[in-house]
Amino acid sequence: FVVFDHVQKSYDGQTLVVKDLNLSIGKGEFLTMLGPSGSGKTTCLMMLAGFETATHGEILLDGRPINQVPPHKRGIGMVFQNYALFPHMTVGENLSFPLEVRGLGKAERESRVKSALDMVQMGSFISRRPAQLSGGQQQRIALARALVFDPKLVLMDEPLGALDKQLREHMQFEIKALHERLGITVVYVTHDQGEALTMSDRVAVFNDGRIQQLAPPADLYERPENSFVAQFIGENN
Ligand code: ATP
Repeated sequence: FVVFDHVQKSYDGQTLVVKDLNLSIGKGEFLTMLGPSGSGKTTCLMMLAGFETATHGEILLDGRPINQVPPHKRGIGMVFQNYALFPHMTVGENLSFPLEVRGLGKAERESRVKSALDMVQMGSFISRRPAQLSGGQQQRIALARALVFDPKLVLMDEPLGALDKQLREHMQFEIKALHERLGITVVYVTHDQGEALTMSDRVAVFNDGRIQQLAPPADLYERPENSFVAQFIGENN
C-alpha cells in the first residue's frame, strides 16, 4: 500500500539523514517508526505526507508515485504532537473548516464532523473552544480532524508526547481500537519503546537514517538483530 523504494534524503545536499530506505507497509497495517531523536523518522513521515521530497528514490502510494498524486487526493490524515487546533474556532469549526476549504457543502460537512467526533467520543464538545478542553480531549479532537476526510492512511508523529503517562496509555488504547475498527493504515512515529511495542503490528527501528530492524514487537524482544536494537529496546522497559 505504501512503498519506500531506495529513498534517500538530504536537506543540505551533503549529509544524508535518510539512507537508502526500503519499506513496504501493508493496507490496514499499524507500522511504527521507532528510534532516537535525529534518526530520520519524522523526515520519512514528512516525505510520505508530501511536505518534503526524497533526494533519491521513490515513495509509492497504492502503486503511484506520491508526488504524482495531488495532496487532496492522497487520502492522508495527519496528527502531530502540538495539536495545532485553531484557538479562536470551536471544536466543530476546527473540523469543518478544512472541509469548507475543499468546497464541501454545509450538510455534508455537518454529517462528517458529527461522525468524526462520535468516533473519538467527543460529540458533546462540538461548541467548546480548544482552551476549554484538557490535553487528552484536545488530542482526541486532533485525531477527529484527521479522520474527517475519511482517510485511507493516517500519519501520527509523537501524537501523545504532550500527555501524562496515564492519559498516554489510555489514548494508546483508544487509537489502537480506532485503528482496528476503521481498518485504516497507520504510520506512527515515536521514540517511546513501550508505546511502539504495545500498539504496532510491526516496528521499524531507526538509527542514523537507516532501519536497523523491521519486525513484529515480540521479535524485537526475542531476536534483536544487532546490538543497537537490543540496547534500544531494552532501555526503559
Ligand atoms: P525527532 O524525534 O527528534 O524528531 P527524528 O528521528 O524524527 O527525530 P528527523 O526529524 O527526521 O529525526 O531528523 C533527522 C535529521 O535531519 C536531524 O539531524 C535533523 O537535524 C535533520 N533535519 C530535520 N528536518 C530538517 C530540516 N527541515 N532542515 C534541515 N535539517 C533537518
